[in-house]
Amino acid sequence: MAQRRSRGPGREHNDRVRLVTAIVIDGREIARASRARTAERVAAFTVANGYAPGLATILVGSDPASAVYVSNKRKAAAEAGLVDVHHHLSGDAAHEDVADLIDRLGGDSRVAGILLQLPLPANLDKSALIDRIVPKKDVDGLTARNQGRLARGEPGLRPCTPAGVIELLDSARVKVEGASATVIGRSDLVGHPAAELLLRRGATVTIAHSRTRDLPAVASQADILVVAAGIPGLVGADHIKKGAAVIDVGIHRTATGLSGDVRFDEAASVAGWITPVPGGVGPMTIATLLANTIAAAESAAKDLANRGIQ
Ligand code: NAD
Repeated sequence: MAQRRSRGPGREHNDRVRLVTAIVIDGREIARASRARTAERVAAFTVANGYAPGLATILVGSDPASAVYVSNKRKAAAEAGLVDVHHHLSGDAAHEDVADLIDRLGGDSRVAGILLQLPLPANLDKSALIDRIVPKKDVDGLTARNQGRLARGEPGLRPCTPAGVIELLDSARVKVEGASATVIGRSDLVGHPAAELLLRRGATVTIAHSRTRDLPAVASQADILVVAAGIPGLVGADHIKKGAAVIDVGIHRTATGLSGDVRFDEAASVAGWITPVPGGVGPMTIATLLANTIAAAESAAKDLANRGIQ
């Protein structure tokens, strides 16, 4: 589903060796389908419970990129039928102000999910504020509780971008179980949880990072290569095993538009599957946020119903 070939298949002149051409995984289409499924669940929830679940977004300060990200999330939430609950605090907000707001939203039964937009101003304790979010409403999957559940393979809300990476692989029918997977990047937001998710799905996982020696040698062993280093054009053909699935998480704004961590044209001539930037992982992050929000709402409603029965 939702794939196109980057180039038509070709043959070398002696007809013995077929050129491998990558299937381009269409993240926009896969995200659209995911958002449509979420909208159906939100509609069913609203009918069953008499109210639409809310997604609360908190933006602190006026970082322009963060403002755009939050506005895109709010728009997508409203399109899916979720109630948009937005709070914009000034850049000099005190730690207690943000913590109090998170507590209030945590106690509001109509708010299913809470998203604290990162990065936060430097005077705020990011980890403490993230952990202030009730784990059941942590739709970004970043609290210590949810990251611990992920590490232990227990159910919980998963970080949006890494979960989106897995959905892209599944939609493209890339076999994860038994595959050798390398994740470039070990951040709490992307690289580390992506590696955990791949591990839980039965891949043999290597995590490469800024201290890795000979990145091309490590990366080119992988059947699945997830690139989340935040360095434009870091990965080229010499990092890629022939026929591998290459998922480019990087996003960089350039004078000519968005680009990723992977040099697309040369990578596409070696890879079996590849995600473009834009139109690959990016749209999946918001789609997963919405899916996490309705899952949180359904789970909260189930908890309430169970308590009512007791
Ligand atoms: P980060 O800076 O927190 O982490 C980068 C990681 O890459 C680090 O673990 C570092 O060790 C590793 N790294 C740096 N240089 C390296 C090198 N030369 N070789 C190997 N590893 C190296 O970044 P992040 O938050 O994980 O984001 C990574 C990229 O993904 C960024 O471009 C970011 O904009 C993008 N991103 C995209 C989405 C999306 O929705 N598509 C979401 C989040 C982040």
